[in-house]
Amino acid sequence: MENHTHIRVRELSVYYGREQALKNISVDIPEKRITAIIGPSGCGKTTLLKSFNRLIDSIDGVRVSGEISMNGDNIFNPKIDVTLLRKKMGLLSQRPHPLPMSIYDNVAYGPRIHGIRKKRKLDQIVEHYLKESSLWEEVRDRLHTPASGLSVGQQQRLCLARGLAVEPEIILGDEPTSALDPTASQRIEEKFLQLKARYTIVVVTHILRQAVRLADYVVFLYLGELIEHGPAEEVFKSPKKELTQGYIKGVIV
Ligand code: ADP
Ligand code: MG
Repeated sequence: MENHTHIRVRELSVYYGREQALKNISVDIPEKRITAIIGPSGCGKTTLLKSFNRLIDSIDGVRVSGEISMNGDNIFNPKIDVTLLRKKMGLLSQRPHPLPMSIYDNVAYGPRIHGIRKKRKLDQIVEHYLKESSLWEEVRDRLHTPASGLSVGQQQRLCLARGLAVEPEIILGDEPTSALDPTASQRIEEKFLQLKARYTIVVVTHILRQAVRLADYVVFLYLGELIEHGPAEEVFKSPKKELTQGYIKGVIV
């Protein structure tokens, strides 16, 4: 792959107590591409994603070994600013979790924390990122109503807008469409395909068809091990490992 490596993972192992959830994972995540992490439930997909933004460290009893670097910087370096690291990454989870405040305040939240106070500037930012996540037209007349009044699909796009408003480099999605209906899912997928021109996107999915639609690069995990990774074309059309062949055949019929 001619693209630069954005996230470099080397011999990463993660233990929850005595259970090893990730076993010696090494992979390069390409910049400004969509990487899909696929594999059956419980194989470590979420754990890998949470390692990238170091949410994994905040879980009791977790032990991590190995290396992850982002643009060449080791993220486990004790001197690293974890808040800054997380600012570089927007995370979409399985169910949208808008903050219990208005649509406007959800998007303005991050920029306000980062010191932007002027109303005119905030207005611009809110409009910009709501447009960026294709939500503006639907909410422009009710910006100051609670985010909880939106449909689940709209809430997920609002969470995307909120994430983008802190100007991340990377978008992480943990089965971000699993709570959405087909139309709302499609809108998120379309968004990802547009956003990859400017962001590195890593999306966990157990929907293989979604991986086929989205992925430039595929990482297949099975029981905590990385079985196969490579350009999507290769992994889907001519998987090298029997486990990958079985998984792809079992799901794509
Ligand atoms: P996936 O996202 O692929 O379904 P996870 O990364 O959530 O898989 O989980 C991988 C393994 O780690 C599973 O066996 C799961 O039970 C275990 N696990 C995940 N989170 C925790 C936790 N907080 N405490 C203990 N075990 C966990
Ligand atoms: Mg998961």
